[in-house]
Amino acid sequence: MERYVGKSIFNGIAIGKLYFYAKEEQQVRRSKTKDVKTELERYEAAKQQAIAELTTLYEKAVKEVGEVNAEIFNVHIMMLEDDDYNDSIHNIIEKQELNAEFAVATTADNFYEMFSTMEDEYFKARAFDIKDISERVIKILGGASTGSDIGSDPVIVAATELAPSETVQMDKEKLIAFVTEIGSSNSHTAILARTMNIPALIGIQVQESWNGKMAIVDGNNGVLYIEPEEAVLQDFQRKKEAEEKNRELLLQLKGKENVTLSGQTIKLYANIGNTSDLASVMKNDAGGIGLLRSEFLYLETDHLPTEEEQFQVYKQVAETMAGKKVIIRTLDIGADKQVEYLNLGKEDNPAMGYRAIRICLTQVDIFKTQLKAILRASAYGNIAIMYPMIISVEEVHKIKRIVEEVKAELSELGIAYGQVEQGIMIETPAAAVISDLLAKEVDFFSIGTNDLTQYTLAIDRQNSKLDSINNPHHEAVLRLIELVVKNAHKEGIWAGICGELGADTTLTKRFLEMGVDELSVSPSRILPVRKVIRETK
Ligand code: PEP
Ligand code: MG
Repeated sequence: MERYVGKSIFNGIAIGKLYFYAKEEQQVRRSKTKDVKTELERYEAAKQQAIAELTTLYEKAVKEVGEVNAEIFNVHIMMLEDDDYNDSIHNIIEKQELNAEFAVATTADNFYEMFSTMEDEYFKARAFDIKDISERVIKILGGASTGSDIGSDPVIVAATELAPSETVQMDKEKLIAFVTEIGSSNSHTAILARTMNIPALIGIQVQESWNGKMAIVDGNNGVLYIEPEEAVLQDFQRKKEAEEKNRELLLQLKGKENVTLSGQTIKLYANIGNTSDLASVMKNDAGGIGLLRSEFLYLETDHLPTEEEQFQVYKQVAETMAGKKVIIRTLDIGADKQVEYLNLGKEDNPAMGYRAIRICLTQVDIFKTQLKAILRASAYGNIAIMYPMIISVEEVHKIKRIVEEVKAELSELGIAYGQVEQGIMIETPAAAVISDLLAKEVDFFSIGTNDLTQYTLAIDRQNSKLDSINNPHHEAVLRLIELVVKNAHKEGIWAGICGELGADTTLTKRFLEMGVDELSVSPSRILPVRKVIRETK
């Protein structure tokens, strides 16, 4: 078995034979002509045929991947009609008395050179398009076929690079994944792969000798397995089946309400740990983001992320969610999540140590920077803030004072911010027990059952030796959840669950009976939970 790691541009799993797609090398000969007029006519005829082919491709692409993604073929037509491009070809034929193929190839090389050295990513991408359209014209001039034959069986197409026109011409029934060496996440081929819903990897040095070999494309992790071992194959077959089930669920449940048979509704939001999860949030039809674990911003760098760096990310999430709620949890670093630059020091009991809100309330500058970034982003969507690891009313008072200070600083600078709901995570037994008092102070509760379970049962969630006694269904945990929901409702605020337990479908009925208002689960669990809600009486 060989294993290659690349970059995933669309997730999912494909298992099948590889088809090495080799571009036919265009051998363009340079030949002198005495008949310039005929060469010009040959070029014009080939160009017209290319335009006709691209028009057909555009129509095919509109049906397969929608108008927006098909637009690239209109761009190609415009490029073929571009005056500079045509002048250059005409000029070479006329002045140098050369054949049409050579004039097109030389023009393509020159334009490719020019576009590929441009700073602007848009123009850089056009370099590849110039090559693509010119190759089509040259093929037509030589009388070769311009199709993209990938054989008659379903295959994973491996190629050094693929032009959008090649991708669209491939038989979609036969195409189960792409693996290419060159390409970018924003290339048109990537967009087409995403729209076609098939896994795709880039950045893998493909080899002709792979042709016909069995392979697995793991688009979830960006890995290609060639001739996989039996155990790996079986593992991926299981995962693929689970994905297919989820896809079926999607067809049945996308756009449907989270409503029980008796008419009770509950909100179903997604937990995310990075902006790369957003696609999955949309795909799985989440009603909002119930927990954005902001730590990734701090863990992925070697310095404290600046206000601007954070603002850009929060703004992107708010804009992408387009008015749906996005609950950003403030920094929850410490315990198992350590960063060197904070010099937190070693602790005997880090889970109960200097972490989360405890850091924010002592290193207030760090907290204020994050709050400013979140508040600024709140002008671009429906953002709420929640605070982790709360144990007392005093902490909430301190937080509220700091938030007011930050708002005042922003107002003074004339910087806009929206209305933000403020809530707390209930993940310590202390917070659960005094939830009646805390409910008077905040807009919502989100129960973090992962930590609540660890602290209630005194079981370290990182310690695998304790797995057999770590029972998240423990009545103590469930009673605390019930108490928290009751206390929230008494004060007229809402309560949700964002720990893993929220996705446990054996408890969905019980949570509905408790009156839980929201469940925030990992994106792939949205639809299975929706299914159970809709089947509950
Ligand atoms: C929790 O504790 O349940 C929770 C959602 O937070 P995290 O898992 O990030 O600690
Ligand atoms: Mg937690």
